[in-house]
Amino acid sequence: MNTKNLEEKIAEAARLLATAEYPICFTGAGISAESGVPTFRGPEGLWEKHDPQEAVSLSSFRNQPEAFWDFARDLVITSGASPNPGHRALVRLEDQQILKTVITQNIDMLHQQAGSKNVLELHGSLEKADCRDCGAKYSWQELENILKAGETPQCRNCGSLRIKPRIVFFGERLPEEVLERSWQEAQQADLMLVIGSSLVVYPAAGIPDLTLQAGGKLIYVNADRGSRAELFDIILTGRAGSILPRLAEKTLKIIEKD
Ligand code: NAD
Ligand code: ZN
Repeated sequence: MNTKNLEEKIAEAARLLATAEYPICFTGAGISAESGVPTFRGPEGLWEKHDPQEAVSLSSFRNQPEAFWDFARDLVITSGASPNPGHRALVRLEDQQILKTVITQNIDMLHQQAGSKNVLELHGSLEKADCRDCGAKYSWQELENILKAGETPQCRNCGSLRIKPRIVFFGERLPEEVLERSWQEAQQADLMLVIGSSLVVYPAAGIPDLTLQAGGKLIYVNADRGSRAELFDIILTGRAGSILPRLAEKTLKIIEKD
């Protein structure tokens, strides 16, 4: 694809975004890739060291919680992750009252760190954790310091190692309330930007279908065309950190003119 083509498609997407009544976005691991957080399916080395199915499974957490925390440390601390221009472009669109909601599959908290306010975390996040044995509560700030010191969190109250973050482990159900709110948002939306998601992890991957079924349009911003290209009105192939700022800029220009 030549650059001009992509630029034209971004302009077309900006027109849809500027005129939509209730645009929202749905993000996956790809939006955080340029922050240094590797995607599960990418070629990066992290998954040679950690098998997510193993590190993020309940049975392994019960027996060896340190495997999960080693994985979490590598995911968001060793990777040095901080918000990238893609996250910030979404904040800009929300601040200008264009984008209504961010539905994310990510657990890395980068949307909030960038400044997004209305975020629905389908798979939870590392922000809070609870001791499974005595119920003591932990904030990310506290856990981060422990992980940075190279240690595994241990309950300050009862000594248990079973401090479980409020994220959805493989085999666990998604939080009902967040899922229902996401369904409602998707049905209400007349436009959804689907960003950096391969759309293979269900039930999250079924959310864009709800927008489509309700008569809304879908725009895909992804490194490749993925396996469900037929769903989308516009496909913007490339890096989210490069495309989203251009899309936000063009959208805001259209709105300023009106
Ligand atoms: P995925 O790994 O299945 O797909 C990522 C998609 O992003 C791919 O289609 C890839 O082509 C695309 N991509 C890669 N780099 C990109 C970039 N710079 N710009 C735009 N697109 C890019 O991710 P998924 O669909 O989110 O599913 C993975 C599951 O793993 C999710 O459930 C998620 O919770 C979890 N996960 C989360 C994180 C995180 O919190 N950052 C990281 C890895 C995995
Ligand atoms: Zn405890």
